[in-house]
Amino acid sequence: MADATLFIQRAARYIRDGLLGLVYPRACYGCETSMAEQNGYLCEQCRTQLHAITHPMCEVCGQHFSGDLTDSFQCSNCANRLLQFDFARAGYQSRDLARVLVHRYKYNGQFFLASLLGEMLNETLDDHRISKANKELDWILVPVPLHSRRLREREFNQAEELCREISRRRGLKIVNALRRTRYTRRQAMLERTERLTNLRGAFTVSPRSREKKLIVGQRILLVDDVLTTGATASECAQTLYEAGALKVVVITVVRG
Ligand SMILES: [Zn+2]
Ligand SMILES: [Zn+2]
Repeated sequence: MADATLFIQRAARYIRDGLLGLVYPRACYGCETSMAEQNGYLCEQCRTQLHAITHPMCEVCGQHFSGDLTDSFQCSNCANRLLQFDFARAGYQSRDLARVLVHRYKYNGQFFLASLLGEMLNETLDDHRISKANKELDWILVPVPLHSRRLREREFNQAEELCREISRRRGLKIVNALRRTRYTRRQAMLERTERLTNLRGAFTVSPRSREKKLIVGQRILLVDDVLTTGATASECAQTLYEAGALKVVVITVVRG
């Protein structure tokens, strides 16, 4: 029943966003000014407000480092900590426009931004650590789940919609393998130390045998909109490894 309601809400949003697209076909998704040429989702000015993550970056959590390092390194967030995922890779730094876009998408119901954010997320798959492995065995996409109560409040799981965007572009399979069993306070509201303990045992693998089977021996791209301390992704990765996943890599639109 809940699934049917969500489906109808999703369909209604697609129709609404599609109609808006017809009325305002050339507005920039960032500043909403009209664009003379429809060349992507953002105007030239807004493009300069996005900061792609490039080397050097933390080899574990993908934190960008603006300095002279030529090699990969581990940042202070990751030192002396055991994060369960193999590594995390974000497309953009969470500041300026990227931060605003994610916020508008997640909390202001601007569902149409999924296409732009999906494009930004898609760039993470060009990381050689991901693209090289893909030649041997396809990755599967697993969204970080929302608790059913949070899903009702927000009406959509932002991570699942981002999976759809990647799946459409890359032809990768989506497996909804994880469930959130505990309703926890929003990570964004917590201090760092609280974030690390707030999630213990909050996730489990879906009780459906089909999904359980689909993750055994697989390379998994765990998908979310933002990675901050990595606590959520680490808990999810541990759950997936315990269920038999071969490798878990985290991809997010932004690194907070
Ligand atoms: Zn703009
Ligand atoms: Zn790090």
